[in-house]
Amino acid sequence: MTEQQKLGASSCAVDLSASALPQDGESSSEVFTTTIETSETPSGFDGFGFSEALLSTLKEKGYSEPSPIQKAAFPELMLGRDLVGQAQTGTGKTAAFALPILERLRTGQKTPQALVLAPTRELAMQVADSFKAYASGHPHLKVLAVYGGSDFRSQINALKRGVDVVVGTPGRVMDHMRQGTLDTSGLRSLVLDEADEMLRMGFIDDVEWILEQLPQERQVVLFSATMPSEIRRLSKRYLKEPAEVTIRTKDQEGKRIRQRSITVPMSHKLEALQRVLDACGGEGVIIFARTKAITLTVAETLDAGGHQVAVLNGDVPQNQRERTVERLRNGSVDILVATDVAARGLDVERIGLVINYDMPFDSEAYVHRIGRTGRAGRTGEAVLFVTPRERRFIRNLERATGQPIEQMEVPGNTAINQGRLDRLRKQLSAAATAERGNEEEAALLKELMQRVATELELSQEDLAMAALNLAIGPNPLLRHGDDDWIQNNQRHDRERPERRGDRRGDRPARAPEENMQRYRVEVGHRDRVKPGNLVGAIAGETGLQGRAIGRIQIFDNHSLVDLPKGMPEDVFNSLQRLRVMNRELQISRAS
Ligand code: AMP
Repeated sequence: MTEQQKLGASSCAVDLSASALPQDGESSSEVFTTTIETSETPSGFDGFGFSEALLSTLKEKGYSEPSPIQKAAFPELMLGRDLVGQAQTGTGKTAAFALPILERLRTGQKTPQALVLAPTRELAMQVADSFKAYASGHPHLKVLAVYGGSDFRSQINALKRGVDVVVGTPGRVMDHMRQGTLDTSGLRSLVLDEADEMLRMGFIDDVEWILEQLPQERQVVLFSATMPSEIRRLSKRYLKEPAEVTIRTKDQEGKRIRQRSITVPMSHKLEALQRVLDACGGEGVIIFARTKAITLTVAETLDAGGHQVAVLNGDVPQNQRERTVERLRNGSVDILVATDVAARGLDVERIGLVINYDMPFDSEAYVHRIGRTGRAGRTGEAVLFVTPRERRFIRNLERATGQPIEQMEVPGNTAINQGRLDRLRKQLSAAATAERGNEEEAALLKELMQRVATELELSQEDLAMAALNLAIGPNPLLRHGDDDWIQNNQRHDRERPERRGDRRGDRPARAPEENMQRYRVEVGHRDRVKPGNLVGAIAGETGLQGRAIGRIQIFDNHSLVDLPKGMPEDVFNSLQRLRVMNRELQISRAS
């Protein structure tokens, strides 16, 4: 099966084959290092000193070539050196640190030897799963994910039984260390994964606290998509003469993902969304919305329209989130409507289309969102909805991805009908090539067809047509009429010509006060609250990115938090009851 066939997801899909991960017969060399020469690294996974067991696991997984970041990182990490890697998800960064760590584990040690810190529980779980998959040749090896929201007791029991690799979110790891349930005295490697995300979510103090507690002789590996000064400071302070690897993925990521935007007034978004799904949707789709309330509205609308849809937002309990992602992965739902925070780090190969239903909070969130498609070397589509006023922000996003965002019109009936026919053709081809597992059933079906054909004197073609009609169902396949809305919408666009070219492109500098509302919450120094606690809790509850949360001032028995204006009532209500440091926020608008 070719990558394009594997994609099979979107009738709008295009074949753009460049990738940050190596494809068959291609060896990318987009590695920029300050201290490493990579040109003489041997091909394949031989030559890094990996065990036979690991080599055969990689073969089973179908990895033929290390990705650029892996080629650069393996030799350094196998020697036990510290490393700073600037790379995004999708570059193979997890295997870049996981394989050398696994290979350097000592047998017979009871306490953990490696600790990976990740900003979210989703990422922690994924990294832990990757470790488990790569360690499948060593069944005795124990990998444990620890994160908030899951049972503390069972984590303690697992730690007591003995764990080799712990992957966790900073807060929960710190709790275990404080309680003495996570013994770090034998730790040999620490990985900070997506360090900039941890900074943005207010975890940096916790990360530093953890670093301070670790043995002096240890390897530290830091991965970050961007390098804010705070992360550079951290790396200077805690890493010893680290090797530095930078992977430029912008171009490669951008080329794999075709990006388009649709200008649509707020009031027409839901209709436009349904039309885009009808024309371009297919196998797996993620729709990003700004708030939990919007995820629900969108999901209800799509559900009413007959789509298989699930929601992933901060209200969805942890165990259900895992099930939801699994349902998306195995195809029992096709569309996921998510907030940024809930979908962070999500890695599902069959996502062929990402729809930015709302403008992301910033360009990094955009890069992250569209990175949910084009996974594992596939191609993908990203569609961004912008209101006429938001169009001026597109330039920033183009700059962040290094790729143009093409303009697209809300699909009219012709495009929708073409999409429906394409999907039907794919389904028919797939059904024609798939065998019906049960032979007895297949024989009965053949007999049934023959009987109907004889009784009604039908040709093969008549019979096939009848079967297709049965599959399509009672509603007409093609859509007619009601294209007026599109015409009106497009006219609306033309009346407001785009002026992107004549402004300087940057989002105008906004005084934060103008867009922010100040709120009072009833936790303060007496509760030992830190800004990170408030950012983490509010971001988790509202779906806001940590960086969208403004100034935080903590007083003895209350705090003031600046949040973006226009908070929906239900979000406000949920923040009232939200508990931070064991106290309800009782949020109120500050005068
Ligand atoms: P990551 O950047 O760690 O999120 O990895 C992105 C995806 O690439 C994951 O699905 C990995 O399983 C996959 N992957 C990692 N390394 C390789 C490789 N050398 N060859 C093929 N696929 C890989």
